[in-house]
Amino acid sequence: AYQLPRKIHIYFSDTGGGHRASALALEAALEKQYGSQVSVELIDFFRAAMPWPLSQAPETYQTLGNFPSVYKRAWDYDQDSEKWQDTTSYQWMWSYSKEHIVKYLQPLDLDLVISVHPLIHHLVIEALEEISRGSDVPREDIRLPVVTVVTDLGSAHLSWFDPRVDLLFVPSQEIYQLAIKHCVPKGKINLSGLPLREGFWSADPIRPEEKKRLQEQLGLRPTERPEVVLLMGGGEGFGRLNDVACAIGDTLIGLGYGQLVVVCGRNEEARKFLSERKWMSRQLGEWLFEPLILGFVKNIDEYMTAADCLVTKAGPGSIAEGMIKGLPCLLTAFVPGQEEGNIGYVTENDAGAYVSDEEPEQIAETIADWLADPERLQTMSENARRLAKPDAALQIARRICDGLLDLGVELKEVKASDFQSSNREKLL
Ligand code: UDP
Repeated sequence: AYQLPRKIHIYFSDTGGGHRASALALEAALEKQYGSQVSVELIDFFRAAMPWPLSQAPETYQTLGNFPSVYKRAWDYDQDSEKWQDTTSYQWMWSYSKEHIVKYLQPLDLDLVISVHPLIHHLVIEALEEISRGSDVPREDIRLPVVTVVTDLGSAHLSWFDPRVDLLFVPSQEIYQLAIKHCVPKGKINLSGLPLREGFWSADPIRPEEKKRLQEQLGLRPTERPEVVLLMGGGEGFGRLNDVACAIGDTLIGLGYGQLVVVCGRNEEARKFLSERKWMSRQLGEWLFEPLILGFVKNIDEYMTAADCLVTKAGPGSIAEGMIKGLPCLLTAFVPGQEEGNIGYVTENDAGAYVSDEEPEQIAETIADWLADPERLQTMSENARRLAKPDAALQIARRICDGLLDLGVELKEVKASDFQSSNREKLL
């Protein structure tokens, strides 16, 4: 017999916006379906359990974003190995942080660990083994299941895969194959999709009235014709947001239709520059067409519902979210290695295109072509929707709780439309 609520830790780190977003999605899916049977805590594992300088991983990631070639070298470094735990990178990380991690996990006052970050689960598994070695309690009796949820889409670093995890959730066929290549037993792998936040749980197509209502609410001109372009660069606002925004903004003015929303995320410099820029503008009745410049927003789902296409760096979260909202996606940049596979995922499925942000004019031209061809947009939109997996978070939560914690779902029928986004505040 066990005590309720079952205690679940979700380990992530703020290296990019995607891991936290996935962690929040799983927290919501667990709490919505299992209510008081579970108690879920989100923890930035690097900050909480690792020694300096590893505890600074979020800051390092932000800095590395400015040095893509260094990041690429780090990403490629161990890729030829079969298992991450055999690499020198891992062994260094483990021996350096072992003491801290064991101390952090030692109380073992927990029922389940979910990791949504590639560098965490090995350390947790290893620490549990270390604890059981030191305490005469065999690992089987510690019974702390460890689950990994992969938050990359078309390609994934070797470190995502540890054959010792209890369950592994992958978002695409491509990553499923990689998991097998890196020795994860088939029986542990679940092809589920990327867990996204509540605003993305509904599989229903967007109703035109709903879209117009949101456009108006968000400060856009409500319109029937597809013309709203959403530009973003992940949580950190990576890439040449300024150049791309200026090129698209100026082109749309020339077209005589088209509206632009720029979400700069945590890139305060871009937000400031774009807000202060003197834009060419156009008056249409009471409407002044000027790009809408925003910082980090918590209601991306609403902006995506209001939009007709997405221009973004190849972040897995943004792509998967866009697909649920049926947004054709123009990819303009990628984190080397890590996000390269996402480009093929979008283009090979004809759900969008790739134009490098080294060529902002070319990006603007592509967008102008798309907006001039609603049928083309429609085809890409349908292709995007076919790849969408809106029930991933709910399914993953069920599979974990039913399979590993013996819990029964409290809501018999889970309808995404029953949920209001309740955890938006936690995004920042
Ligand atoms: N995001 C957000 N508000 C913003 C900018 C980004 O909520 O202002 C979210 C976005 O919806 C997505 C995540 O941050 O869920 C970014 O993840 P992605 O995988 O695209 O890129 P990353 O930031 O992890 O590199």
